Amino acid sequence: MFKLGLTGGIGSGKTKVADMLAELGATVIDTDAISHALTARGGLAITPIRAAFGGRAIDATGALDRDYMRALVFDDPNLRARLESILHPMIAQEVERQAKQAKGCYVVFVVPLLVESGRWADRLDRVCVVDCERQTQIERVQARSGLSLERIGQILDAQASPEQRLAAADDVIDNGARISLDELRAQVLGLHQRWCNLAG
Ligand code: ATP
Repeated sequence: MFKLGLTGGIGSGKTKVADMLAELGATVIDTDAISHALTARGGLAITPIRAAFGGRAIDATGALDRDYMRALVFDDPNLRARLESILHPMIAQEVERQAKQAKGCYVVFVVPLLVESGRWADRLDRVCVVDCERQTQIERVQARSGLSLERIGQILDAQASPEQRLAAADDVIDNGARISLDELRAQVLGLHQRWCNLAG
């Protein structure tokens, strides 16, 4: 099946675009949602994470303590690699399982850090980037989370630059401040038709 990678910076609108593609009949596989499910209470990754990082990594509800873990791995590549060595194989297995059941013209993999990770390049037929100015990303993330401006800035700085992302793109969706949801939907529909044609 034709495989499309969908990426973009934090708050760029990936999820919104993915939801619109799903409405049009594409199969959407969201690696972030899979990662969240694996690290939610009772998720498969909880036991190995507890074994590797100790009980402090798990919150009172039994889910991964995201704030603690984010702070722990932010400045320590070794700890980050350790966490990824637990999560990545589990995510890959679930992605594979969902991809086997895919229906529609093509399958969309939503991968926030697609450009950064380098593990996706040879597994995709096409990459679509959702593009949006930094200020709009900040406003959207602020509107929906309790993250401080400083924290949002740190996350943005740790992600690929817009130029790096655009260099990896076959298609670009403009979802900047001036783009209404109707305008976004129109771009998504045009690309959906193109991808269905490409998928044959
Ligand atoms: P993250 O990487 O943080 O998960 P994301 O790239 O998936 O973010 P979304 O969750 O799709 O981004 O969008 C961020 C917020 O901005 C959401 O609340 C969404 O409803 C809103 N949003 C996205 N695009 C638009 C738009 N064109 N007009 C108005 N609101 C929008």
